[in-house]
Amino acid sequence: MIVGLDIGGTKIEGVGLDSNNYQTVVKHREPTDKSSYQAFLNSVMSVIHVVGEQGNIESIGIGCCGSVGNDGLMQGANVTVLNGQDFIGDIQRQINVPVAIANDADCLALSEFKDGAAKEASNSCVAVIIGTGCGSGVIINNGLVTGLNKLGGELGHNPLPNFSPDKDGAPVECYCGSMNCAESFVSGTGFARTFSDKYFVADSKQIMALHAQGDKRAIDHLDLYCDQLARTLACVVNFVDPEVIVLGGGMSNIDTIYPLVQQKLSQYTFTKSVQTQIVKNVHGDSSGVRGAAFLHSL
Ligand SMILES: [Zn+2]
Repeated sequence: MIVGLDIGGTKIEGVGLDSNNYQTVVKHREPTDKSSYQAFLNSVMSVIHVVGEQGNIESIGIGCCGSVGNDGLMQGANVTVLNGQDFIGDIQRQINVPVAIANDADCLALSEFKDGAAKEASNSCVAVIIGTGCGSGVIINNGLVTGLNKLGGELGHNPLPNFSPDKDGAPVECYCGSMNCAESFVSGTGFARTFSDKYFVADSKQIMALHAQGDKRAIDHLDLYCDQLARTLACVVNFVDPEVIVLGGGMSNIDTIYPLVQQKLSQYTFTKSVQTQIVKNVHGDSSGVRGAAFLHSL
């Protein structure tokens, strides 16, 4: 059995997949205890033990924000008790199997490449999460690209291509310190912010409810959003040229974006008739745990 864990700020979800057919053998979730590192580690081990009661654990993959620094210690995790800790080592001292960590976008890419929306791709796929933020996971030649600086796939913090105040609104500073990051426009948060700046305060759901009623402002805004997303994804095509781009996160559930983005994509790519398909993820919220489980099996 291969095991995947998805660690979030509120819950830790674990899944055990049959290593031959990837069918789910067991699922278990517990609240994330963030009161101290030891308490957090105990809650992670508790999930692993419950999952391990259903079969022999061959490997553990962990989907988690943050990364392992060159010193082997965790950095940049939003579950802050994790930072500066030898998280992988501490798990392996309790259960001696291979343990690896990747972020949520990497897990989405793995999950969809292995047996989801990109399973027909022979060796490449890029997954882009458009949710609260915007991140991506890149698979080239059947391997996940993490990179020297652990920045592989930080698509959301490239500047939005062809930014124009007339079209895209006033320049905006990202929390990362850069101006006009793509994330500030193509994330779900960005979609709501740019609408609220232009018309009136509304969240994504309210904008899409107006869209369903035929409201011209909402229709125009979704069209602009798809243009911004097409500009962002055109960079992916020009640079990596993957066989498939899979979308995940809240905005990926809006089915009307796919034909619009697909149609606009070729306006911004080097070749004006790209074949790259932009598709919705298949595994939805399960992508995190499933992709984590596949971390050892590419
Ligand atoms: Zn940024």
